[in-house]
Amino acid sequence: MAALMTRRMLLEITWRRRGDHRSCYCRMCIMCGTVFYAGRPEARYCQSACRQRAYRQRVRAARCYVGTSRPNPT
Ligand SMILES: [Zn+2]
Repeated sequence: MAALMTRRMLLEITWRRRGDHRSCYCRMCIMCGTVFYAGRPEARYCQSACRQRAYRQRVRAARCYVGTSRPNPT
């Protein structure tokens, strides 16, 4: 009896058999460079932690920009 199969493992097995096709794609995380398998062609991050890290970086960059162009009201 196989151990618990994660969705990612299933995607990897499918990809190894069939390669890129509808609902199974091999992608590289733009945050950490890890190769991962996704059900969507537009997937860019290997895990939610990477997506959140990228989001926080964007927010921080935006805040920095706002901070220089608009003074703090208090
Ligand atoms: Zn990643």
